[in-house]
Amino acid sequence: MVSFAELSLTSFLADRLQQAGFTAPTPIQSAAIPLALEGRDLLAQAKTGSGKTLAFLIPLIERAVKEGWKPAGSARSPRALVLAPTRELALQIEMELRKYAPPSVTSLAVYGGVPIERHYRALRQPPMIVIGTPGRLLDVAGTRHLDLRGIEYVVMDEADQMLDRGFLRDIQRILQLLPSQRQTMLFSATFSPEILTLAESMLKNPARTAVDPGV
Ligand code: ADP
Ligand code: MG
Repeated sequence: MVSFAELSLTSFLADRLQQAGFTAPTPIQSAAIPLALEGRDLLAQAKTGSGKTLAFLIPLIERAVKEGWKPAGSARSPRALVLAPTRELALQIEMELRKYAPPSVTSLAVYGGVPIERHYRALRQPPMIVIGTPGRLLDVAGTRHLDLRGIEYVVMDEADQMLDRGFLRDIQRILQLLPSQRQTMLFSATFSPEILTLAESMLKNPARTAVDPGV
């Protein structure tokens, strides 16, 4: 893929990318987006600053719009879950999502350091996409306020940082709350044997893409 136009994205997303001045995808976007849109699980490595956020947000937004994800209503589970290692990153991902997604594609970031009641209140209207840090996400998912049984898409961003911060156990517990029938994408700046082991436990027959081997 050499231009976003080739993807025939829904108009809102295409317009927003154009407004951002983005016409050409970065190499990781070029590799990851078509595979993600095909429904493949993905193990993707690219260095920091290479555009990994849009590599997973573009397919998520496109799916949400094309498949007409509805405000959850009686089914209270979100459809997609993005895991991030820090509050800053979770907020950054949500800001990026809000920049490119139409208002109908609702979202919520949950993270530590703020009263959990704030998340409970926000979850009265279940969002379609939840972005969260592992610890707080587990705390919230352990209550009636957040049901993860309808999750169809899972993204783990910065998997190497997740492991560096000791989130492996939390991640394993989150995975147990998710349907096994789902699409999962794992992004990391670096690969290590530990990441490959985690990937094996999370991903089904993943497509592998490494844009900056050796970084
Ligand atoms: P990473 O997660 O790989 O560290 P980011 O997703 O944070 O990288 O993106 C790094 C920067 O590149 C951001 O400022 C983002 O807006 C910009 N960017 C993303 N995609 C493109 C693109 N296709 N063309 C130009 N800039 C882009
Ligand atoms: Mg990133």
